[in-house]
Amino acid sequence: MLKIALIGCTGSIGRQTADVVRRYPDRFCFSALACANAGEALFALCREFSPRSALCAQGDFVPPAGTRRLAVQDAAALFEDCDVALIAAGGFAGLRYTLLAARAGVRIALANKESLVCGGELVLRELARTGAQLVPVDSEHSAIFQCLAFRRDAAFDRLVLTASGGPFLHLSQEELRRVTAADALKHPTWKMGAKITVDSATLLNKGYEVIEAHHLYGAPFEKIGAVVHPESIVHSLVYFADGAALAQLGYPDMRVPIQLALTYPERLPCEEPLDLAALGRLTFLPFPAEKFPCYGLAIAAGKAGGTLPTVLNAAAEEAVHAFLAGRITFPAIAQTIEGALGAFAREEADCFERLAETDSRTRAYARKSLYGTSAS
Ligand code: MG
Repeated sequence: MLKIALIGCTGSIGRQTADVVRRYPDRFCFSALACANAGEALFALCREFSPRSALCAQGDFVPPAGTRRLAVQDAAALFEDCDVALIAAGGFAGLRYTLLAARAGVRIALANKESLVCGGELVLRELARTGAQLVPVDSEHSAIFQCLAFRRDAAFDRLVLTASGGPFLHLSQEELRRVTAADALKHPTWKMGAKITVDSATLLNKGYEVIEAHHLYGAPFEKIGAVVHPESIVHSLVYFADGAALAQLGYPDMRVPIQLALTYPERLPCEEPLDLAALGRLTFLPFPAEKFPCYGLAIAAGKAGGTLPTVLNAAAEEAVHAFLAGRITFPAIAQTIEGALGAFAREEADCFERLAETDSRTRAYARKSLYGTSAS
């Protein structure tokens, strides 16, 4: 029986992880469940799965009998007596859990992008110290992991991430100024949470994935590229020295990489296999980096390293929040990020506290530039 601590259990990845566990109740169980603020949904999951402990970071939550409630400052106890920590919390908040899981030495199935985008250097250092394993859940990085035969240190020549291109791929700059939050939330292929869906529309998400690939596979930025693939069937590719390329294909369904992160190297039945003849064709287009500046801003921050990816992310979280509330235009998301990156100097990412402090300083700065006051 594989004991899973699921962090971010009420979000999109968390709910799909629960589906995977329901399908194989004799193989998987939850030892701990945690969420940010959805106390009612957490209670229902605790009733169904009877975890030993549960944590609700904010808001009311009284666990059912048999489950111990953990306070935020006792989050390390989430990873006691578990085999895999599935980190699916959203945003910068996920980094703290990833570091606690790495410190506990348990295998980490990572679905939280910000852990590597903001804290890649810290997370890798902690993994090296404790020997904890890191397995990607994001579909692109799972594809690369599979093409490398589950070896993060395998040799390759180049990584190519596929991108759906989001809902605004073919719009003009003029049209981009008029799109709304509702337009941005209509993702063509994947069903995801609101923040990442907007990040897919700005292509910031692909910039994040380049930074993650850099940390996960030790690849210099020059060896990581992206291509638009509107059908989201090819999940990413690895090129080798002889020009051969391996790709992983499948329907866009996150339950496949979630399940694989739990069972690898073993594979169990999961979703429908591909019907290539029914698909007919797959298309690929050049990646439009010039049209969507968030991508280039992310790559620049990733290359600079230190605290700058945290500045990038904090400004993005605030800007996307403002865009979703209808308070700024779509192009203003990139402008907010660019302004914040210009306002802060790079510092070493030497500890979590430094990044947490950078995160809150940048948020205050971004809110001031968005609303004229640092209160949200
Ligand atoms: Mg992805």
